Parts: sequence; C-alpha cells; structure tokens
Amino acid sequence: MLTKPSSSVYLSRRKDVRPATPLLSLIVPVFDEEDVIRQFLEATRPVLEETGLAYEYIFIDDGSRDSTADILADTLKEGLPGRLIGLSRNFGKEAALSAGLEAAKGDIAVIIDADLQDPPELMHQMIDGWRAGYDVVYGLRVDRSSDTLMKRSTAGMFYRLFDRLANIRMPANAGDFRLIDRAVIDALLDLPERNRFMKGLFAWVGFPAMAVPYERPERAAGAGKFNYWKLWNFALDGFTGFTTLPLRIWFYGGAVIAFLAFAYALYLIARVFVTGVDVPGYSSLMVALLFFSGVQLLSIGMIGEYIARLFNEAKQRPIYIVQDVIEGQQSARATGQ
Ligand code: UDP
Ligand code: MG
Repeated sequence: MLTKPSSSVYLSRRKDVRPATPLLSLIVPVFDEEDVIRQFLEATRPVLEETGLAYEYIFIDDGSRDSTADILADTLKEGLPGRLIGLSRNFGKEAALSAGLEAAKGDIAVIIDADLQDPPELMHQMIDGWRAGYDVVYGLRVDRSSDTLMKRSTAGMFYRLFDRLANIRMPANAGDFRLIDRAVIDALLDLPERNRFMKGLFAWVGFPAMAVPYERPERAAGAGKFNYWKLWNFALDGFTGFTTLPLRIWFYGGAVIAFLAFAYALYLIARVFVTGVDVPGYSSLMVALLFFSGVQLLSIGMIGEYIARLFNEAKQRPIYIVQDVIEGQQSARATGQ
C-alpha cells in the first residue's frame, strides 16, 4: 500500500553511471482485453528481446470479467517473466497504474496499453532517451486521426484550459505511454493522494523529460473503455487535482457583481428621488434573479466537486485492493554488454 512520503530526495542516476543492462518493467493495465491480449504479447515480446535488457511484465487485472486473467495466468505459468496482480474489482486505469508501479521491480518502467494503440517498437527510442540522461521519455501523439473529431476537439479544449488554469506544465497529447526511471517511480509512489490523475502526477513530479512523437493507431481489437461521461469526470479529476482556481474565481466574480449591484442600487435610489416611484421592471428583475441564481448554483456545484474529493481523500481508503498475485518466471538479469 502507498505510505506517507519518507523523504523528498529521489536521486536519478547520471547517464554515465546508469546500469548498462537495467531491468525493465512493462506495466500493462488490463480490463476485459481477451480479444487483444495474445496479440499484445506477440507484438511486445520480440521488441523486449531485441532491447537486450532483462524484463518483466507487470499485468494489472483491473477486475476483468472475461478470460483475460486466465490467458495471462497460463502464459506466465508457461514461462513468461513477470507477474499478474489481480485487483478485487474494477478500480479504473489510474488506480491500476498505481498498483503496477508498486509491483514493478525494474530500474526503469514502461507503461503501455494492452490494445496496441501504443506502438511497442517505440520502446527502443525511449530506452535511447533514458540512456541519454532523460528520466521520463513520453510518447507524444502527433496524429490523433484515429480518434473521433469529437474526442479530438474535447481533448484539445481540455489541454488548453488545463494549461491556463493549472500551475504545472503538462504536455498536450501525451498519454500514459512512457518510460520512467526508478527515481520517478519512487517519487510517484510516495504521493499520498487518492485522486490518481496520472498525467498530472507525471508532470508534477518533474524530472528531465523528452518526447518521442508517434502516430496513434486504432485499437487492434476489443472495445475502448472510456465513454464521454467517464472522460468528463476524468477531466474534472485533472482540474480539481491540480488547480484551485475554479474555487477562488468566485471571489473575484462575486466582487465585480457586488460592485455593479451597488452602483445600480445607488442609481435606482437616486432615480426615485428625481422621478418618483415607478413599478414596471418585472423583466429586468426576473433576468437578474435567474442569472444570479444560476451563478450561485454553479459556484456551489464547483465547491461541491472539491468537497467531494476532499471527502474521498479524508476517508484514507486504499487506492486499490489486490486479490491475488500470480508469479511467472523470475526475470534473469541479462549479463554482459
Ligand atoms: N483499462 C483499465 N481499467 C479501466 C479501463 C481501461 O485497466 O477501467 C486499461 C485497458 O485495458 C487498456 C488501457 O487501460 O489497456 C486503455 O484503455 P482504452 O483503450 O479503453 O482507453 P483509450 O485508448 O480509449 O484511452
Ligand atoms: Mg485504447
């Protein structure tokens, strides 16, 4: 389980003292991926072999209801290096990634989706980047044409707004597909929060980072797990986790409105003295009433979003629960080179 940070010193090794043959942990969250998981294994294994590094697969079964876990358990028993961490239910990809980071023993870890939308060959470039001294090498989607227009435009809006509001710089169009050094893994594991908006946390911990551009292909098989409602909540997690501006903005909005209202009140009073009492004004009253009740509900709702998340943090529940662990072959450390 994640614990309180013991220190805030995470020394990454300078490039000239990095291990020549690090152990690579390939972290793969899986949720109902029986249609594509074999293909994923066939595609990734040769790439891992080519790297010449010792490697281990870390599968996190995020409560799959199909045969994904069985397929993986069999493959591990047949000698695939690594392990399968079975979560007790579906906790969501962000929680699954935390479980994966926790279980990884590698000097470096690569986080990758099971649906082959993250091209495994890119790992070569990522490892080169790591050798060149970068602690984070992330895949940058240069072409999102495999996404629908709607997804692309809402994602674009999200990144622009996030960049304006949040006080961390998060690269736009980068997913979770990335290589990270042990120093980054340890730093991430020491973050105590329950709200695991990984893309934000990756940016928050910092470290020298490099981008590797790629074209994101369609899902190889199976169906995507995120609908727009999930994505909207995901975006809210991002905002509430990394900026308090939506909470604070009402102070300024309220101040401006109060000032205008005061000026208008003075004008109304003065007018009564000059022209006497006049009753008409139903429509302006109604408009003001509706407008300001709308603004108030909106601001209360915004505050509610934060309070709900505070509540979740305060409960201190674990991010995920592991139900079983299936060990595959122990990864033999490659020697030589
Ligand atoms: N995933 C998961 N838990 C979930 C949803 C998804 O572990 O609740 C995994 C899924 O199996 C896949 C990765 O996260 O390996 C990305 O999922 P998906 O392809 O549906 O996301 P998208 O490509 O649309 O971002
Ligand atoms: Mg996908």
